[in-house]
Amino acid sequence: MNSSNLLNLANKFGAPLYVYDSEKITSQFQRLTKAFSGVGSLRLNYAAKALSNITILRLMNHLGSGLDTVSIQEVKLGLMAGFKPESIIYTPNGVSLEEIEEASALGVQINIDNLSILEQFGSKHPDVPVCIRINPHVMAGGNSKISVGHIDSKFGISIHQIPHLLRIVELTKMNINGIHMHTGSDILDIDVFLYASEILFETAKNFKNLDFIDFGSGFKVPYRTGDIQTNIEELGKKLTARFNEFCAEYGKELTLAFEPGKFLVSEAGHFLAKVNVVKQTTSTVFASVDSGFNHLIRPMLYGASHEIVNLSNPKGKERYYSIVGYICETDTFGSNRRINEISEGDILCFNNAGAYCFTMSSNYNSRYRPAEVLWHKGKAYLIRQRETFDDILKNQVDAKDLFKKPKAAAIK
Ligand SMILES: *Cc1c(COP(=O)(O)O)cnc(C)c1O
Repeated sequence: MNSSNLLNLANKFGAPLYVYDSEKITSQFQRLTKAFSGVGSLRLNYAAKALSNITILRLMNHLGSGLDTVSIQEVKLGLMAGFKPESIIYTPNGVSLEEIEEASALGVQINIDNLSILEQFGSKHPDVPVCIRINPHVMAGGNSKISVGHIDSKFGISIHQIPHLLRIVELTKMNINGIHMHTGSDILDIDVFLYASEILFETAKNFKNLDFIDFGSGFKVPYRTGDIQTNIEELGKKLTARFNEFCAEYGKELTLAFEPGKFLVSEAGHFLAKVNVVKQTTSTVFASVDSGFNHLIRPMLYGASHEIVNLSNPKGKERYYSIVGYICETDTFGSNRRINEISEGDILCFNNAGAYCFTMSSNYNSRYRPAEVLWHKGKAYLIRQRETFDDILKNQVDAKDLFKKPKAAAIK
């Protein structure tokens, strides 16, 4: 899709608006699949939390993806979107045993990331196959540095606890069918990732009934021209060779799994907002849009730098702007950006708005969450309505009787 398609959608559906391009999602899925075509059995489980609209989940299912979920609600959404329970993996962190049992009863693959729950679940349900999430304590910090700074991470079972883990498995007689890691950091240096994979292979040797090894995610996509991105093709080549070698050694063809979120949907998403005010202060020209971190929190939360384009004036002279929102709080989307001259009423487009954008939106300042549109085969489909005032009041209980003025006593 191009800029004029996007501008038309802003005119048709109004701003602020999220737009997702199914063709980009499809090509990213195919690119990853192709990079690992040398693996006998590959499973891509889309990480639902990146963008969990049910129509997006249906598209992923249609492409042949599985689903990675982190809450019972995401599991239920996945089932509603047509995923079979066996193509859903549930990888929660810090949730109750009851919720894990509820997910297990729905037939999805359970992934456990702490010894306490592993012991409790294994004792009660020794027959349910379980995947375990390992923390290899490897993190790609900055440029090609291997750091063990991740020792404090709350995720996964530390590799230093493998002896304890093995004792639990032996005593409960539970069946470990998968082994998993997701370090959560961007894969910038493939060798660091391969180094972590070696730790996973080493751990895998302790379990005789594995069906799969899950390498999580962390594929980095470019946000701005010149950004470093994960070289998927090179990673595919190197990890495939090593994985196949491991399977031969292990004596069984295992499934290689990944759980990409950002890689599949980030670049497919565009967020469109309208400029309400252009304000010149002594030092800066601000353009305020009809949005804020209630709709797109990544710049404020992570310091993410989303490219911002003026769709309404693509040939205009470039000038420096700070793009801010309308929330009563600092909500800067970008500072000192060179953008084609902005006038009030123009539509700005924020790129890379597919992953962790809508799913992190809120009603702060009692504003509505935006609508979502899927651009599919040259046509636009509304996949989420813009909220209305009813949504703001929904679930609120107006206890107006609490503050009734007492009736004035009758004058005698
Ligand atoms: C969030 C998450 C992912 C997806 O990470 P991306 O960086 O978006 O690819 C994968 N696996 C797990 C367990 C996650 O929590």
